[in-house]
Amino acid sequence: MQPFEYNALPGRVVFGRGTIGQVKAEVEALGASRALVITTAQQQASGADLLDRLGNCGAGLYAGAVMHTPIDVTEDAMQQVAALDADCLVAVGGGSTIGLAKAIALRTDLPQVAVPTTYAGSEATPIVGQTEGGIKTTQRGPKILPETIVYDVDLTITLPVDLTVTSGLNAIAHAVEGLYSREANPMISLLAQDGVRALVSALPRSVENPEDVDARSDALYGSWACGVTLGVAGMALHHKLCHTLGGTFDLPHSQTHSVILPHAMAYNAAHAPEAMARVARAIRADDAATGMWELAKKLGAPMSLAELGMPGDGIDRAVEMVLANPYWNPAPLEENRLRKLLEAAHFGSQPIGAA
Ligand code: NAD
Repeated sequence: MQPFEYNALPGRVVFGRGTIGQVKAEVEALGASRALVITTAQQQASGADLLDRLGNCGAGLYAGAVMHTPIDVTEDAMQQVAALDADCLVAVGGGSTIGLAKAIALRTDLPQVAVPTTYAGSEATPIVGQTEGGIKTTQRGPKILPETIVYDVDLTITLPVDLTVTSGLNAIAHAVEGLYSREANPMISLLAQDGVRALVSALPRSVENPEDVDARSDALYGSWACGVTLGVAGMALHHKLCHTLGGTFDLPHSQTHSVILPHAMAYNAAHAPEAMARVARAIRADDAATGMWELAKKLGAPMSLAELGMPGDGIDRAVEMVLANPYWNPAPLEENRLRKLLEAAHFGSQPIGAA
């Protein structure tokens, strides 16, 4: 056994079907009685339903969450927190909604109940990325981590098929990077591998029949396992590339993860053989990076940065930005290899260096 360090994260998880009915009790268990419900405009109806269920524990609804947690939206929501004298935040939605609750909690230390409806995994991490002036910066801290997660499988049935796929691949990316991160440890590696296994089994079934509750349940469990991995273990080249591309070229979050993942895996494969062997086992492929690329293709995920709107002449700029402010990575970051990685991702060709 290699030496390791492990910092367990606190947090309560309620997982099941119909658990939305337990949110009020969870708010009360946190000692709160004036919860602000947060959603996107698209999920306003879910937010209104939850506010209704909270009864005398619900203070109001803020339905203005958007992707990448812009600071001006957080400031706007903070005014509502103050006006309502809210003592708890209840986020119902994907990573964008949960990101807004985290940004408010960072400023107020209010307790949070996260009710996730995608597979992004943000609810299980003490990380928030916030955007100001077109630049997204990420920070970690104990105030950011939601106190309670209520997973209700029924809320994920409506997740559109394309988002089901890319959000699931986003979760898998957390597990893959957790397996080869500097903070990797045996406990989290077990969870990461099982998260990948669960999602790889569940995503094709969810695509085939979005109302397959068993598939949705396995996918949501997998996303929790992968989210915990991201929360405890660190990020590396894959996340760095995605943050750079998302922030600088305004590329959509989970779709960018889907395109980049097999390429980042191929880049790191020779320097992370044990992690790759675990992923290959979990996805039942001979080669992890090729297997991931084929899986994404089979699921109908976008395969190229070009189709997401990345300008071809942006590759050099992205390489420059990754090198200027790198994350730790198992393979050394080399300008030429990074350019080739991004070219392959841009055109949607096979990952370079994969077996
Ligand atoms: P999202 O939250 O932006 O959701 C995408 C769209 O789908 C939204 O319009 C949303 O309202 C809708 N939606 C969500 N669930 C739905 C459902 N079940 N049925 C119907 N519509 C639904 O997408 P996302 O990929 O979950 O989140 C992306 C954001 O999360 C990014 O800003 C990213 O940086 C952040 N994120 C953060 C972390 C972290 O640990 N800090 C981890 C992953 C993602």
